[in-house]
Amino acid sequence: MKLYVISSGKYGSRIVNSLAEMGLASSMVGLEEIPDDLPEFIDDFQQYVPKSIPTADLILAVGLFGDINMIVPIIARQSGAKSVIIPIHDPAQVPPGLQREIEESAPEVKIVFPKPFCSLEPVGDTYIDKFAREFGKPKLEIEAGNLIRKVKVLRTAPCGSTHYIAENIEGIPTEEAEQEAGNKLHNYPCNASMATDPVVGDTILHLAGYQVKEAVRRAVGFAMKSAVVDPETCEADECQHECIKHCPQVQIGMDTVTLNEEEQAVIDPASCGCCEICIQECPYGSIEMEEKKFIIE
Ligand code: SF4
Ligand code: SF4
Repeated sequence: MKLYVISSGKYGSRIVNSLAEMGLASSMVGLEEIPDDLPEFIDDFQQYVPKSIPTADLILAVGLFGDINMIVPIIARQSGAKSVIIPIHDPAQVPPGLQREIEESAPEVKIVFPKPFCSLEPVGDTYIDKFAREFGKPKLEIEAGNLIRKVKVLRTAPCGSTHYIAENIEGIPTEEAEQEAGNKLHNYPCNASMATDPVVGDTILHLAGYQVKEAVRRAVGFAMKSAVVDPETCEADECQHECIKHCPQVQIGMDTVTLNEEEQAVIDPASCGCCEICIQECPYGSIEMEEKKFIIE
């Protein structure tokens, strides 16, 4: 796979270096660095399109803020790439209106905007999926009894944090591993924004934490905490599905809250980030946080 990378700022450099160290250097056919002090609104972004663009299969644009992202579909077209990943680590980076503009300017190109990058999963596109098999939403294999014995990384966050977390949760009590994975992500440290994203109602940093906690929960086969819906009081046909509409995990594409056959909300304890937003939003007071062992199939 020929990967062409467009990078800007500290976040961009960190991702590029980390991907190169984790084995993608030989796939990179080019790297274009965009200055990180450009204005958010640009009339003539054409001037920033690189003069020489290699043939590529996949374009990765990391760390670009605002209108400069409009060069990405132009570069894709000139490189022949039909697949583009524009990860979002900050709410101000690529707002929904700009996402639509980018997509509409290149309808023949598959463009994904994972928010955060470590929520990327295969989407049915040859090259995005090839990338997402190794990099994106963390996936782990864990050997454990009462303690975590061995952790194998099956898919790592593109910043490399999953390897760091995997090494640092070995030896700790298994029931504490999901919480500890979240703490270790902050220690690494995760570079996603601490500002609340108005689209998802939570911070992108928190969303990154939910992804790695989910990886641990799925690998050990249980979660220690989750929001739970009371089916006796859930009135989903009356409430416009407030919990589904406001769950930040659902907003970024996860099936964390769904409706069952009785049309009542059900929360998946594997991916619930325990943010409590659904508890505040449910007009019937039907959701509570529970701390117990939830077995994950
Ligand atoms: S607590 Fe509710 S809103 Fe938050 S992640 Fe879990 S299900 Fe979604
Ligand atoms: S749990 Fe509350 S917000 Fe969610 S569907 Fe049921 S009544 Fe509506």
